[in-house]
Amino acid sequence: MGELNLILLGPPGAGKGTQAQRLVDDFDLPYYATGDILREAVKNGSELGREAKSYMDQGDLVPDEVICGAIMERVDSPEAADGFLLDGFPRTIGQAETLEQALGRRGRRLSAALLIEAPDEDVVRRLSGRRICVANQHLYHVEFDPPKREGVCDDDGSELIQRDDDKPETVRKRLDVYRKQTEPLAEHYEELGLLRRFDGTRPPAEVHEHIRAAVKTLKLEDEL
Ligand code: AMP
Repeated sequence: MGELNLILLGPPGAGKGTQAQRLVDDFDLPYYATGDILREAVKNGSELGREAKSYMDQGDLVPDEVICGAIMERVDSPEAADGFLLDGFPRTIGQAETLEQALGRRGRRLSAALLIEAPDEDVVRRLSGRRICVANQHLYHVEFDPPKREGVCDDDGSELIQRDDDKPETVRKRLDVYRKQTEPLAEHYEELGLLRRFDGTRPPAEVHEHIRAAVKTLKLEDEL
C-alpha cells in the first residue's frame, strides 16, 4: 500500500489538534505538531527552544530555518516511512517548498492538504476557552468540551492550563499572521490538486466524518 503523507491546514483554533487526535487513531499515523514540538523544546531549554521562544511569545512565526530541520528529522524517522500527519507545518510558502523538495529528493510526495476553515469570531471564542493538559497536551474547552473535574485532565489527571499564546492579544496577532502568511498556502495546494476543504464551524464529530471519508477515498484511489 502507498504512503499517506498528510498535512493539516487552518487558522489556530479551527480544530486541527482535535481532528488530528482522531485521524491518528483511524489511520495509525505518526503525528507531528510543530507547536507541540516547539513548546516542548522551550520547556526543556534546548537550543531549538531558546531560538524559538521570543517569536512564540509574540505570536510571530519562528524563522523557517529554525523549524524545517526539526520537522524533516521526524519525517525521516522509521515510524514515518508509511506516512505521517503534520499539524502546523508548513506555515509559509517557503516551508511548503522546502517540504516538497525534501520529500521529492526521497522519492516521496504529499498525499493531501486538509484545510479546516473557520471565521475569526469562532476562532477567538474557541481559543480563549481552550485548556491544555501539562503532561500530554490533551485538549479541552471550558464551554464546548469541559473535563469531568474542573482544571484536571480526564486522561492522565494532570493540571489543565491556558497556553500563554491563547491569551486575547496574542490570539489576534496569531490570526493576523495566519491570514497573511499561511492562508496563501491554500491556493498553492489547490494548484497542485492536493487541497481538501472542511467546514470547521460544524460539530467536531461531523468534521471528523468528512475528513475520514476523504482520507479513505485517497487510500482507495492510491490502491487502484
Ligand atoms: P501552534 O500550536 O501550531 O499554534 O504554534 C504555536 C506557535 O509556535 C506559533 O504561534 C509559532 O510561533 C510557532 N510555530 C509553530 N509552527 C510553526 C511553523 N511551522 N513555522 C513557524 N513557527 C511555528
